[in-house]
This record gives sequence, C-alpha cells and structure tokens, in this order.
Amino acid sequence: MWPRRKSTKSFATGRAWVEINLENLRHNVTVLKGMLPSECQLMPAVKANAYGLGAVRLCKELNRLGIRAFCVATALEGAELRKGGVKGEILILGYTHPKQLDLVKRYRLMQTVVDYQYAQTLRNYGKRLTVHLAIDTGMGRLGESAHNLESILEVFTYNNLNVEGIFTHLSAQSKDYTHTQVALFSELLNGLEGRGVGALKAHLQSSYGILHCPGLNYAYARVGIALYGAANHDELKPVLSIKARVSVVKTVAAGQAIGYGLGFIAPKDMKIAVISIGYGDGLPRALSCGVGMVLIHGARASILGYVCMDQTIVDVSSINRVYQGDTAVILGKSGALEMSAESIAKQLQTVPNEILSRLGTRLTRVYTH
Ligand SMILES: *Cc1c(COP(=O)(O)O)cnc(C)c1O
Repeated sequence: MWPRRKSTKSFATGRAWVEINLENLRHNVTVLKGMLPSECQLMPAVKANAYGLGAVRLCKELNRLGIRAFCVATALEGAELRKGGVKGEILILGYTHPKQLDLVKRYRLMQTVVDYQYAQTLRNYGKRLTVHLAIDTGMGRLGESAHNLESILEVFTYNNLNVEGIFTHLSAQSKDYTHTQVALFSELLNGLEGRGVGALKAHLQSSYGILHCPGLNYAYARVGIALYGAANHDELKPVLSIKARVSVVKTVAAGQAIGYGLGFIAPKDMKIAVISIGYGDGLPRALSCGVGMVLIHGARASILGYVCMDQTIVDVSSINRVYQGDTAVILGKSGALEMSAESIAKQLQTVPNEILSRLGTRLTRVYTH
C-alpha cells in the first residue's frame, strides 16, 4: 500500500507540460466579441479537451467571463464538462449512438440532428431532447441538405424534439464558396420562416467565419482555434505554450550515432541535450531529423534523429550553459524567439488544430493568470 497523503497533487512542471495563459484567453474573448455583432454570443468549441488546453478548467474560466454556451464533439465530452461543474448550454456537434442518448438527457446536453434519418432515431427514442439541426450547405459532412426544406420542416413536428437551433459549417475555402454556403443557409432560414418556423437560434461561423465574415448576424459563433490564439490574426494572442525539462546534457564525438535507427550521426564533436517529451505526448514524430526545433535559453536547438515516444534529442552545441533540469520550449516564447503552432503546422503540412488537439494526457496543464 502506498502511504495515504492528504494531497496527491505533485509538482506540475517536473517533466513536460502545457502552460495556459488565461490572460491571453481573456484578451482573445474580448477581441473576438468585438469583431462580432453584439447580439452574437461566443459558443467556444471545447472538443478534444479544448484543443489540448483542458476542457473543464477552460470552460469554468469562460463561465466566469460570462460565456454561457459551448460545443463538444461527443456526449462523453459533454458529460465530463457537467461533472466538472460547467454551466450553460452544451451542444454535441457529432452523432450520438442511441444507446448513449440517456447521457444527453442526464447531463442536460443538446444533441445535433446530423441528418433526416437520425431525426427518426431521435424521434423513436421517445424521451424529450433539445436539439439543433445540422444543415449541409456544401461542407459535405454532417447535416441534412439545405435543399430538403420539406424533410427539415417535418422534424419540427416531432413531439419529443425541442428544436432550439439550426446550424451549418463552412468549408473554410474561398470567398466565393463561403458566399454560396452563406446564401444557401440564409435561403433555407427564409424558407422555414415562410412556413411559420422562426425564432430559431441559427449559427454558421467557426474561427474561419468570424475572421473572414465577422459581420454576419447569428445567435452564436462556434469559435475554437482563434480563441486559443493559433489562427493567423495579429490581434489574437497564443494561449498555449508547451515546455519540457532537459534530462541529460552531454558531448558526443564525431561519428557517434544518436537515437533509434542511427537517425543521426554526429558529423563533428557536438553537445546534445535530451528533453523529456516525445510523440507519446503529442510532439509530432514528423519533426524528427532536423525538421523541427525547440528553444532553449532564447536559442534554437534542432531535433537530432528520431523523436522517441517519451524523449527527444536536440543539438545544443552553440548554446552556452544548458544544464540538466533546464526548460526547453517546444511551443511558445523563449527570450526573443517564439515558436507558434501555425509555423509548426505549416512545416508539417497540417493545421494547428491537429497539433493542439493531439497533446497527450501525460502533459500536465498549468494555468497562469
Ligand atoms: C470544430 C468545429 C468548430 C470550431 O472550429 P475552429 O476552426 O477551431 O474555430 C466549429 N464548428 C464545428 C461544426 C466544428 O466541428
């Protein structure tokens, strides 16, 4: 038996951690609210553990800032928020299996009607549910086609479904494509109104929509990546940093191999540092062999050989005074340098959303005010 202690909370920055700057979060909330019409409420997307930032803690902070609506991807994510004491509306954006619909009820979540067929499933469930209808206006993912006015109207006649909202999602493509999607959605809303269905809470924008068409006047804007400050926009500040401890510093002689598969052979005598973070924590392995770098004491240290599951080896030959226990910055500021999620994403031909949402549970989360 382990000795019982009053607190099992350990030192949070011992190995690898994510720092969440709540001051920058508050700043971004203010900036984003300022971009949107005053009646439009932010509905932060806090799926995938709030893009790695820690969903419960983040939602509670957003609750304190007056935010009263959130969206998640799954029923379990919604249930976790409620168990953690999050207040306000929680919309599940994805499909929920009929066997999990009791979760939706028990935790007072709102379910998305992902298409007309799924509306039948929800109707057959029988118990009362609050739902938002998803409409496909060109994303080709979830939603009943915007062209099927009659099927959409039928859903409003189902007694157990309280249809509170309706939404669509932008493909985040060109201006023209966005315009077509917006027009299609608004045509549908007019069609519904013409048939006596008004007073729906409509929403369309995600981060892309807010940044590219902020003037649209909807009930909500489902904002994710921009809120976390990892969308290309000058006024938004990054909320998240990733840091890890240096575990070993040593010199290697020319010709010595470093890491799995002899991924790197030292061309000269070098000084290397091992840092305690790896792909098991969400550091992309694609950053191996010199593609990526970390920052130590305001200088760049490029990644040598392959990123391992728990550790990564970097070149610190030209950085003075690097010691065991020092901090390496994987994402964020170090001295005058800064690594952004956007730059890493660009390098790896992906989106910052992927980098953030894959940050592992082994990283501790540290919140600064
Ligand atoms: C993830 C998601 C969002 C948020 O997207 P961002 O680009 O991160 O702002 C909004 N709406 C839907 C339907 C989503 O799946």
